[in-house]
Formats: sequence, structure tokens, C-alpha cells
Amino acid sequence: MRQIKYIVLHTTASKLGTDHRNIIKYFIDQHNFRTPRPPYHFMIGQYGQVWECSPIDNITYGVANKNRNSIHIATIGGLISDDRTSFQNRELARLLLRLNKKFPDAQILGHRDFPNVRKSCPRYDAKAFWDQVLLINDIQKFKKNETN
Ligand SMILES: [Zn+2]
Repeated sequence: MRQIKYIVLHTTASKLGTDHRNIIKYFIDQHNFRTPRPPYHFMIGQYGQVWECSPIDNITYGVANKNRNSIHIATIGGLISDDRTSFQNRELARLLLRLNKKFPDAQILGHRDFPNVRKSCPRYDAKAFWDQVLLINDIQKFKKNETN
């Protein structure tokens, strides 16, 4: 099993409805990999579809020089601005909570939070999003305890 240090959030910088297979194909065509690999482990479509594009134990190519210990997740969209849908946010939150359980020591952050990254990827504050997810999760746990 790889040691996971980072869980990295991305947007694909494409139209919201773009087919995830076309994004993978475009990426692989752009790069000269000996073994073609997708840029992300997971992609989340506009209606909350979650595609596992690569097993977690494989390396994908989301951030230059930071892939060995990273899991990459992308919401499809973000061509011009942050256009994430509530379906995408919900599935992203679920996926992050699941991965956080499996890799509690991994830091959750955005592509643009790495040093020397000039891209605005993702198009939102990934750490703030994760803080919100944790907060909502805590409130839900609290409510459950109250009704039990
Ligand atoms: Zn990115």
C-alpha cells in the first residue's frame, strides 16, 4: 500500500457536462507516458456520479512532483468559475469522509495550495470546504446522539 500524505482536490477546467472519459483521453494524449495513466483517482460529474478512474494504490498525475503520496479527486467543471453543483459537493464530502477514515494522517488540500502552483485549481478554497464538511459531520453526529 502506498503511503498517502495528500488528498488533493481539483477541478477539471472543462464544461460541467464534459464526459470524464474525454478528460482522461485528452490528458493522456497531452503526455507521453510509457504507461498511460489518468490524472485523477476519482472524478465527480455534475449529477454526483463518482467515477473511480484508477485504483488508489496506483500513482496518477495531478500535481507536478507530488504524485507519489497523493490521491487526486476532481469535480468536473470549473471552466470559467466555480460552478460545482450541490450533487457534486455532497458526493465530494462523502468521498472525503471515507478517505479521511482510511487515511487519517493525510492532509486535504487544493492543487493550488502547493508551492509554486499558478493555476487556479480548484476554483474554490479546498481547505475551507473540508472544514465545512467536518463541521456538518459533527453537527449530524450531535443530532444523532440527541435523538438516541
Ligand atoms: Zn489541478
